[in-house]
Amino acid sequence: MRRITIFGSTGSIGENTIDLIDRAGGAETYDIVALTGGRNVARLAEQAKRLRADLAVTAFDDCYADLRDALAGTGIEVAAGESAVEQAATRPADWIMSAIVGAAGLKPGLRALEHGTTLALANKESLVTAGPLLMQTARAHGATILPVDSEHSAIFQGLVGEDIAAVERIIITASGGAFRDWPVQDLASATPAQAATHPNWDMGQRITIDSASMFNKALEVIEVKEFFGVRPDQIEVLVHPESLVHALVGFRDGALMAHLGAADMRHAIGYALNWPERAELPVARLDLAGIGQLNFRAPDPARYPALRLAYEVMAMGGLAGAVFNAAKERALDAFIAGEAGFLEMAGIVEHVLDRVSGQSGLIDAPISLENVLQLDQTARHYAAEGLKRNEQ
Ligand code: NAD
Ligand code: MG
Repeated sequence: MRRITIFGSTGSIGENTIDLIDRAGGAETYDIVALTGGRNVARLAEQAKRLRADLAVTAFDDCYADLRDALAGTGIEVAAGESAVEQAATRPADWIMSAIVGAAGLKPGLRALEHGTTLALANKESLVTAGPLLMQTARAHGATILPVDSEHSAIFQGLVGEDIAAVERIIITASGGAFRDWPVQDLASATPAQAATHPNWDMGQRITIDSASMFNKALEVIEVKEFFGVRPDQIEVLVHPESLVHALVGFRDGALMAHLGAADMRHAIGYALNWPERAELPVARLDLAGIGQLNFRAPDPARYPALRLAYEVMAMGGLAGAVFNAAKERALDAFIAGEAGFLEMAGIVEHVLDRVSGQSGLIDAPISLENVLQLDQTARHYAAEGLKRNEQ
């Protein structure tokens, strides 16, 4: 039986992964090694019991007792804390889903790769913060990374049987998020609840807000560069309100290969789960005649400053991605907490990038886990400073 571990099993990607596993026979078909979650202990315990996992881990120490009680008498091992999550990655597994949200997903992903596993990577933050380290670790240990972000899965599928050297450009699409059609002047007063409603995709709260600001697309542009090894000037973003074309790969002969599918993450998760084969998936089939038309337009730079910042970060190189992600995460925390306005997020991130770019030994330090984590802290500190500046 294929041994499977899921990091972030209680999240949006985690639940969709488990849905596919359940439909394929659950514990009868797969050997579930470990499931990890956060504060949603009841859900984690329920998943662990149903899938007969060997181990359930909550990332938070103060949730340990609840998880232990919920799993008492089941024989399922229980652990808590950041290092326990990391430890779970060292348990032998054939396929590991990396679906923790944020920079917290980096360490378990790296540990998993060091064991030569196949890593289905939804956690885009790990590629953005430490892309070269992740790719190098995979190569050194014969591990495989399969992209799970829908755009990157689409590109990956478009490249099957192709030579990356023949690729001229890669286009990823963006729905435009919750505020696509809002007047720009109204964005300043947008609330977290408004930003957390996505027109097409059903996702976790943080990535949904990042879709409205296009910080999500900014991370994805960097993710394309890191994963596929193309130059920044080969990567384009198109606003596509229908979210049916996920990405396009342009080849040097002018051919453009598009990947279409319903806006359902089980497409990308299922592709990674069944790779290199294709299995039947419970996703809606597109009725193109019924849909009638697909629309595309260039993103408006005034509405989406995050995109410009992504290209600046790629030009800076080195560890700038780690700074960008941490500053973005801190700015997003501030927005969710009501401490910063929607449009202020980009200003905070820009402030942090300015602060680090002038100092030697920061983004030009070697790309090691230690340096990434240290710079993550530095960037969060500067972001807090940017927040204070905004208040004055
Ligand atoms: P989510 O918020 O729904 O779930 C996150 C999971 O991580 C939960 O299980 C949560 O308990 C766990 N978690 C939270 N904080 C943690 C911490 N500090 N340490 C360990 N675990 C922690 O998020 P999601 O929408 O499922 O997204 C997961 C990842 O996948 C993100 O990196 C996101 O960018 C990426 N992604 C998501 C989608 C989507 O459709 N949701 C699409 C593409 C990429
Ligand atoms: Mg995506």
